[in-house]
Amino acid sequence: LDTAAVRIIGSEDEHLAHNYHPLPIVVHQAEGVWVTDVEGKRYLDLLSAYSALNFGHRHPALVAAAKEQLDRVTLTSRAFHNDRLGEFAQALTELCGKDMMLPMNTGAEAVETGIKVARAWGYRVKGVPEGEAEIVVAHGNFHGRTTTIVGFSDDPEARDGFGPFAPGFVAVPFGDADAVAAAITPNTVAVLIEPIQGEAGVIIPPDGYLRAVREACTANNVLMIADEIQSGLGRVGETFACDREDVEPDVYLLGKALGGGIVPVSAVVADADILGVLRPGEHGSTFGGNPLASAVGVKVVELLASGDYQRRAKALGEHLASRLDEFVGHGATAVRVAGLWAGVDVDPAVGTGREVAERLLARGVLVKDTHAQTIRIAPPLVVRATEIDWAIEQLKLALAG
Ligand code: PLP
Repeated sequence: LDTAAVRIIGSEDEHLAHNYHPLPIVVHQAEGVWVTDVEGKRYLDLLSAYSALNFGHRHPALVAAAKEQLDRVTLTSRAFHNDRLGEFAQALTELCGKDMMLPMNTGAEAVETGIKVARAWGYRVKGVPEGEAEIVVAHGNFHGRTTTIVGFSDDPEARDGFGPFAPGFVAVPFGDADAVAAAITPNTVAVLIEPIQGEAGVIIPPDGYLRAVREACTANNVLMIADEIQSGLGRVGETFACDREDVEPDVYLLGKALGGGIVPVSAVVADADILGVLRPGEHGSTFGGNPLASAVGVKVVELLASGDYQRRAKALGEHLASRLDEFVGHGATAVRVAGLWAGVDVDPAVGTGREVAERLLARGVLVKDTHAQTIRIAPPLVVRATEIDWAIEQLKLALAG
């Protein structure tokens, strides 16, 4: 590292809370799938800001939409109407095949909003006694960092030291639809799951799981809430990971790529009989649905509506899967791939996930470890096959030690 990078990292160490352990790269500029550091060295981005950069860094259409909006109006608050939000709501609900959306900013806020909506629906529509609502979640879940959300996580790092936690959540093994059905009681208002668990290491449930969860929810008048914040918006080769099983959840939770990598944009999307339970004054956000976010969101939906990104993710994902398979037994103990999204379990004999990420960094490839032995691969969906091949060569060398 040169002196500028060392100085910048040192200053962060001194003045930033230590709630992250970043890899030692200081990014200065980025375009498409490539990132340049302060020394001018280029790296292939295989993280995409945890799938928030599905369309790549600074996609021209998204940057143009943002710039145009910056010159007009950026924030009104929901105290007034703006001429962008309605357009965004119409486009997004059409993409999702639902009636209504509620705009927020971060993923955790969308999850919190989904929980509030499910509880309100339970009390006002289903007839659950006030204060008794239960929500079924999955072991190994990751839905964000707020106190309610970490309260139903089973990751000690996420929850230890942050209680007391909100009651009303029941956790069952991920991928086990019978366990979901068995956990449902007359007070259950929702089942909240990631269709593919991202932070857990790209854990793909067995075929038929989502469909069986859907059936259990329908049979028991329970809302199926799909947290598609990381899995959705093209990543797996479909618009939503639920599409892999032709399943339509009652509620979509969206975030990350919805903001095009430019602004934080999240949303809860559902039909009017569910989202319509909220009344004025019961929920909100100062920045949720702001015109800048909406202008970018409209463009994001337009890109997805073309189907091009989903098709790319599917075709290139098959290529990625065939190349990653080579590593099982040769540096990796397991590989899981869904579209352009992969979890690679690093063989402890060749190092930890962090060590492999550091070796890849030195070779010009950005990835991030999760849960000690796993690295996640999630390139922007604009990546080329030749770039994937080059990254695979670097991974081969990194896994060789
Ligand atoms: N839900 C899922 C499935 C996620 O992967 C994440 C972030 O990684 C979140 C929610 C939280 O999103 P945010 O970090 O924007 O609050």
